[in-house]
Amino acid sequence: MGDSDPKTGSAAGAGEHAEAERLNFIEQEIEKDLQLPKLAGKSLHTRFPPEPNGYLHIGHAKSICLNFGLAKKYGGRCNLRFDDTNPSKEEQEYVDSIQEDVRWLGFEWDELHYASDYFQQLYDLAVKLVRDGKAYVCDLTPEETRTYRGTLTSPGRESPYRDRSVEENLALLEGMKNGEVPDGKRTLRAKIDMAAPNVNLRDPVMYRVLHAHHHRTGDQWCIYPMYDWAHGQSDSFEGITHSVCTLEFEDHRPLYDWFCEHAEIYHPRQIEFARLNLSYTVMSKRKLLQLVQDGHVTGWDDPRMPTISGLRRRGYTPESIRSFCDRIGVAKFYSTIDVTVLENCVREHLNSVANRVMAVLRPLKLVLTNYPEDQTEMLSAVNNPEDDTAGTRQIPFSRELYIEHSDFMEDAPRKFFRLKPGGEVRLRYGYIIKCEDVIKDPATGQVIELRCTYDPDTRSGSASGTTRKVKGTIHWVSAPQAEDAEVRLYDRLFQTENPEEAPDGKTFLDNLNPDSLEVITAKVEPALRTAAVGDRYQFERNGYFCVDKDSSADKLVFNRTVGLRDSWAKMQSKGKAN
Ligand code: ATP
Ligand code: MG
Repeated sequence: MGDSDPKTGSAAGAGEHAEAERLNFIEQEIEKDLQLPKLAGKSLHTRFPPEPNGYLHIGHAKSICLNFGLAKKYGGRCNLRFDDTNPSKEEQEYVDSIQEDVRWLGFEWDELHYASDYFQQLYDLAVKLVRDGKAYVCDLTPEETRTYRGTLTSPGRESPYRDRSVEENLALLEGMKNGEVPDGKRTLRAKIDMAAPNVNLRDPVMYRVLHAHHHRTGDQWCIYPMYDWAHGQSDSFEGITHSVCTLEFEDHRPLYDWFCEHAEIYHPRQIEFARLNLSYTVMSKRKLLQLVQDGHVTGWDDPRMPTISGLRRRGYTPESIRSFCDRIGVAKFYSTIDVTVLENCVREHLNSVANRVMAVLRPLKLVLTNYPEDQTEMLSAVNNPEDDTAGTRQIPFSRELYIEHSDFMEDAPRKFFRLKPGGEVRLRYGYIIKCEDVIKDPATGQVIELRCTYDPDTRSGSASGTTRKVKGTIHWVSAPQAEDAEVRLYDRLFQTENPEEAPDGKTFLDNLNPDSLEVITAKVEPALRTAAVGDRYQFERNGYFCVDKDSSADKLVFNRTVGLRDSWAKMQSKGKAN
């Protein structure tokens, strides 16, 4: 993968060679092509061509960053084109969400197109191929067409309809177009070579009959072009110079080239790269749709989904996704990227931009017995130590607090530097406290309250505040002012690295993680009362969280975006999920 990883470019030995090494393989090809007479006076023109049959996922983000990124880098243009040639699966909802997601990622298309806008142009070109004796109407059933095609090791057989006259073909094609032919009864096929080693060249189908309602063209058409016939021609109509697509289409390139050549139209260059695969998730739209339809998730934007809308709702930033795409680079070989790479990207970005707040996820009440009962004081807290412009805020402190249940241990090991009976700890931004008494529920034996004393001379930021040192600092919230918040602790949707791998009789659904969501009620500091949907925070010591769209004035709802550090491996080895 060395030639294609932008990070392997050596900084030493400056000069042309080092410069070339820093380019990924697509950029290297583009730089060569832009020198060709064919592209003289033209600038780079790319496109992102989603089929509007689902929401975009993180794999699409790679393609978006690549196509729009190349156009930006070379001062070119990038189109958004809906590849809407398959009417039965496509919907306006998907068209809208795709535009929203591309824009959210930070890109704006130069031109917006729909392959369906080219239906007439495509048809006219098909007529030309028929006239030139390069396409024919075939009456084989879909089943027969498959058997006639042969296999990778044996050649195909020619269709008995292959030698129809041009006149007959023209009349039959027109009949197909005019709705006189039932679904599946006839196809238009390119006349190439049934013995070609590449099966894609064995008289591929260009049109099929389908009496289906299209989300844009309605009932105007009852024949629809196949992907291979529509895609390259759409690229050509738009003057795309480089049609960048994923590796599965490498074997289709000869057909892409054949169509452009024989239709005698402008001929873009197709270049393939390896699609993104990510561990612990599935990425095919069919499988994502199944997760939605079968209710395994709450929708396409469920924060556990690898969709752009799911990641957005989870709290991911566009910057973090772009930086991820940049980091993984483009290569010509398949590989699976560990999902921790993605998690690290959002962690890094949020570390620099998210304000810190205190929130107690599993509250344990703590009373400071020597603190005046009617007193509340305001403590000053830094919003973001990584960002001087983020300022400070005041947080209330009083006699009754909540701390994290896990920050107290009754029979603590020697190295436990948080709170234990008789032990001392610093309250973040506040005082050193000492645990004097532990109160338990007599029925269950559970610890329900801690009675502590505080040392008034130890307030953080005061003159004497830091002379006395203790090993641990814990976060807290003041009980009377605390807000209740629903917190959704999300974990990976699948519990196996490659969910697609399932033993016989099982499917990817059997690999779902039953503990991918835990909902708890947390106590959060009062500053969060005014948090708006989408706002992102670091809950100190707990991770990054954002306000969910279900949040309202009456009820705050937060999603955990990611923990502060990668704890998955550790959790797995301990055999527990939180
Ligand atoms: P899926 O298999 O998930 O349904 P698709 O390839 O059918 O995906 P399209 O809407 O046709 O989805 O894809 C639009 C563009 O995004 C195509 O150029 C495709 O190659 C690219 N793309 C899709 N999935 C990935 C991926 N995992 N990594 C990189 N690019 C991808
Ligand atoms: Mg597709």
